Amino acid sequence: MAVPGRCAPTGRFAPSPTGPLHFGSLIAAVGSYCLARRTGGRWLVRIEDLDAPREVPGAADDILRTLETLGLCWDGDVLRQSLRHEAYHEALGRLRDRGLLYDCACSRREILASAPHPGEEGPVYPGTCRSGLPAGRLPRAVRIRVPDRVVEFDDGVFGRCGQNLASAVGDFVLRRADGVFAYQLAVVVDDAASGVDQVVRGADLLGSTPRQIFLLESLGLPVPAYWHLPLALHADGSKISKRHGEGDDPLRHGGDLVRRALEWLGQELPGELRAAPSAELLAWGGAFFDAARIPKKTQIVVDSAGK
Ligand SMILES: [Zn+2]
Repeated sequence: MAVPGRCAPTGRFAPSPTGPLHFGSLIAAVGSYCLARRTGGRWLVRIEDLDAPREVPGAADDILRTLETLGLCWDGDVLRQSLRHEAYHEALGRLRDRGLLYDCACSRREILASAPHPGEEGPVYPGTCRSGLPAGRLPRAVRIRVPDRVVEFDDGVFGRCGQNLASAVGDFVLRRADGVFAYQLAVVVDDAASGVDQVVRGADLLGSTPRQIFLLESLGLPVPAYWHLPLALHADGSKISKRHGEGDDPLRHGGDLVRRALEWLGQELPGELRAAPSAELLAWGGAFFDAARIPKKTQIVVDSAGK
């Protein structure tokens, strides 16, 4: 393994333990791994188990075992979001001290009723509780005030991207009515705490990035470089969310899975590696991965055979 130098990046893979690692999430794992390793960087793994009801028992350990089986070896300890509540609470306090937060009494149904035209990321919060809770209402969620300006960033795949937070999402939730900290908050707090400066993930999160940059800036934390990879979709447009058939079994077909992930990311493998085991393919990817070859598409349909 390369020794991290001063300029070497720190990347990460951050799966949710909602089932075993499948081809869709393997793309993000392989892409983030190769982009970190090709410049001698570190690669971390974080389990995003913030939302306990969605978690499948045993899935986190299963994902980690699969990564090890494939030769996707991470640096340091695995971070688990379920053990990070204190850090999220502290970040929320800092934002509150800056006057950026307010309590919101609105139910989802009320927001849908008052925002009939959805923004880019779903219903735009109309700002009902921005100047205080309506009389007789109790606080439910905690929201952050967003500025009416475009938050811009340079994506490693898609180039210059931007979003006006006020018109695309409105003031967004940082702690839900059920007390769970929002994904957007947890991600930025964890990335900063782990020194992650290279975020490589699926293009379904492209629209979350401006919110995360706004949170990082509001917390005085450094903004990482972003790379969004094309999502693997079924022909009906749904995201690949589980394994399909025996060909997806990483124990028996690890090399084939990693090769498919590298090819998905536009990489041209040397002929002699076409039947190589996964560790050999990853060693090649960690040395020769060419970011310029990643398809500039937010999604690609996997053919009917699931390949
Ligand atoms: Zn409200």
